[in-house]
Parts: sequence; C-alpha cells; structure tokens
Amino acid sequence: SRTILFKNRPAGKPSKSDFELLEEEDPKPKEGELLLKSLYISVDPYLRGRMRNEKSYIPPFELNQPVESMVVAEVLESHNHNFKKGEFVSGMLKWKELQISNGTGLNRVDRDLAPLPAFLGVLGLTGLTAYLGLEKIGKLRAGETLVVSGAAGAVGSIVGQIGKIKGCMVVGIAGSDEKIDHIEDKFGFDKGINYNKTDDMAQAIREICTDGVDVYFDNVGGEILDAVLQNINKDARIINCGAISLYNETEVPTGPRPEGLLIKNTALMQGFLVRDHVKDFGRALQQLSAWLQEDNLEYDETIADGFEKLPEAFIGLFEGRNVGKMIVKV
Ligand code: NDP
Repeated sequence: SRTILFKNRPAGKPSKSDFELLEEEDPKPKEGELLLKSLYISVDPYLRGRMRNEKSYIPPFELNQPVESMVVAEVLESHNHNFKKGEFVSGMLKWKELQISNGTGLNRVDRDLAPLPAFLGVLGLTGLTAYLGLEKIGKLRAGETLVVSGAAGAVGSIVGQIGKIKGCMVVGIAGSDEKIDHIEDKFGFDKGINYNKTDDMAQAIREICTDGVDVYFDNVGGEILDAVLQNINKDARIINCGAISLYNETEVPTGPRPEGLLIKNTALMQGFLVRDHVKDFGRALQQLSAWLQEDNLEYDETIADGFEKLPEAFIGLFEGRNVGKMIVKV
C-alpha cells in the first residue's frame, strides 16, 4: 500500500516535489489496534501552515514523515472492542492507504445520515467552522448584511447559506464568474463579486452593500479584508477565520491598517479557531444535519480520484480549482 511523505518545506507556493509517494509493506494490527483503509481524504488550506517550521496551534509536519489531515476510513480489521470490522470512522490520520490506529480520536461515521465525503465537509470541520464562527463572533441578526470571502469554497458556501437562513442580505466574494453564478444560483447568495475582475473592491462592495457591512466572514485576508473594512458599519463583527491570500507569502505584506476603521466603528474583529469549540460540535452538527434533511442547506464537493492526487488537490486550493470542499477519493 502507498503513503505520501512530506519532503520539503516550500518557500512560496507548494509544489508536487514537496511530497513523495512511497510503497510500503501493509501494516498488521496488534491487540487493541485497528487496521484502517482510507476512503476519502480532506485537503485543507491550513495544511500550508503546518509545512512551515513555526510554532502554532498545531505542530509543524516533520520532514520525511507522512502528511496528515482528516480522513474517512473503513475498519478492515479490529482488535479493539470499541470498533467493529466494517464500520466507518473519521479522524486526523496519515496520508496512507492502510494504517494502524489504537482508536484514539476516531469518531464513528453514520452512513445513513449522509454520504461518506460529507463528513469531511458540511458535516465535518468545514460545516462546524461556518456555523460556530458565525454563532460565536458573527451573531447575525435578520436584515443585516453579511459578506463572506472564499464564497464558493467549502466554508464560504456554507457561511452564505446560513446567512440566508438567518434572514440576512448575503454577498459573496470569489475568483471567477462561474463561481459567482454558482453561489447566486445554487446557494441563493443575493450577489457575488469576482475579485479577479474588479479593480476597486472597496468601491464594488460599497455599490452592492448599500446599507454597509454588518458581518464579514474572512477566509482570505489581505487586500480583500482591507476593502471590506472600508465598508463596515458601526458595531460590525469580523470573523478572522482564514487568510489564504497570504499563506504562500514569505513576508507579511504591508497594506492599509484596519485599526482606525475598527475604532471609529467600534467594530469587533476576532480570530476564530474551530478546534477551540469542541464542546459545541455535537449541537452544531445536529443543526447542520437538520438543515440538510430539510433541504435548507446544500453543499458542493470537488473530488479528485486517486490517492496519488493528494498533493495536486492540495495545491489546487491555492489556484481556486475547487468549488465546495476539496476531497481526494482513495
Ligand atoms: P476553500 O474551499 O475555500 O478553498 C480555498 C479557496 O480559496 C479557493 O478555492 C480559492 O477560491 C480561494 N483562494 C485561493 N487563493 C486565494 C487568494 N490569493 N485570494 C483570494 N482567494 C483565494 O477552503 P476552506 O473552505 O477549507 O477554507 C477557507 C478558509 O478558512 C481558509 O483560509 C482556511 O485556512 C480557513 N479555515 C479556518 C479554520 C479555523 O478554525 N480558523 C477551519 C477551517 C478553515 P477563489 O477561486 O474564489 O479564489
């Protein structure tokens, strides 16, 4: 079976040569252990952070060790009384086709609730990030204007739909006309802005958000954040969820400083980490599943076929190659 190792800390954008695909002997589980077969593997922007040798909320990847991310796997063999052969689980696992686990940190996945890849997206950390970021910091009220960047992506597309459920005017920012059509037609956003075709983002936002911006869910940081901040209302809330536009920068770029705008609008801008809210996961997942079942929530996936596609799919996140959650089917 195959594994993918982390080979090189990239400067700038990651490339396929930062990873290595290897054949290895199939592992054999011992007493207390499980043999897992990876079925779907999540690739996520935050993995770029783990490629840097920096102290963060999660340790950096070690060179020549397998990459890890969220995986949905099947239990092929069990010597652990907590799991049975044939069950499906999700957890933070290695980029391996087959691997051993002692069961710690694994969650059972209920296939009757949704198709398996959904547990890496709308019913996984993606949906939780959207839901809890809005709940903890956004505090949406009906009639408010919500702007979200990365709007056609995994988190952003869920954020926008929750905004509509809550009765907000929802504006999405994404990188192509197809994505803008998609968020308006499929996800019910009121309006989208293609940042790749807009010279003056602050002006474009001002024209669409005629009542200003009450909540900004920021997935991209950088210039788009600067442009939205030019339009915030009194007591606006800004969820600093991600800054993908800066993840491949080697130096933090300078730009307009937001502080003045925050002060005069008494706005709240707060960093958000979904992993800090584990105690709320059960409740949030119940709400997300209920919306799914009531057809109030839809989701997209971009699924790359083949274990060897993992590096390419990951790099594709920085090129906007995905609509919705980017996942690799093993
Ligand atoms: P997405 O599905 O949104 O994929 C990434 C998208 O980012 C791409 O499709 C692309 O869309 C956009 N993008 C890439 N480069 C740029 C750029 N230079 N400028 C603007 N947009 C760009 O990923 P996720 O939904 O998984 O994650 C979204 C964000 O949320 C990320 O920043 C991630 O790090 C963060 N996150 C944070 C969590 C937390 O706990 N704080 C948890 C989960 C995610 P386009 O074509 O529109 O450019």
